[in-house]
Amino acid sequence: MNEIEYNGEKIPYTMQKSRIKNVYIHIKEGKVIVKAPIRLKDKYIQEFINKKSKWIYENVKRYEQNPKKEEKIEQEDIKRLKHVIEKSIEKYSKILQVMPNKVRIKDIKYAWGSCSSKRNITINLKLATKEEKVIEYVVLHEMCHLREMNHSKKFWDLVEENMNDYKVYKKKLKDN
Ligand SMILES: [Zn+2]
Repeated sequence: MNEIEYNGEKIPYTMQKSRIKNVYIHIKEGKVIVKAPIRLKDKYIQEFINKKSKWIYENVKRYEQNPKKEEKIEQEDIKRLKHVIEKSIEKYSKILQVMPNKVRIKDIKYAWGSCSSKRNITINLKLATKEEKVIEYVVLHEMCHLREMNHSKKFWDLVEENMNDYKVYKKKLKDN
């Protein structure tokens, strides 16, 4: 059994060797997986792990103390999300005089929403657990991109014109 020692405690980990170039440490739900290149000597892998032992220890402990369940999005929330998106698109398409080509809800990683040059709007599924106004802000934001394909002053003015307290909701997206 592979173990990392820190603070007088032993934390088990799983080793996965494959054709990769660097050593990676993944911690998911308190479980540690070390991914390493096949040819790298165990001694070096161990050294690498030892250097990260504090970080690993804290990460695992944090999970043990507060094993927050993987945020599960309920069917009900998705239904509500769809409804809010539809409502917001209807509202802002009238005001802004633009219509997206397609609207999709997807579990995307690095943005709350996106608007492509083909005028397709994608809304992040994770918004399903957010309050209605926050969802509305993201839809408005992406719809404004149908008019202004950038984040210029003109773009933000357009957002503000349509939701004068948008900064409150923008901030809420950043806060978590
Ligand atoms: Zn944007």
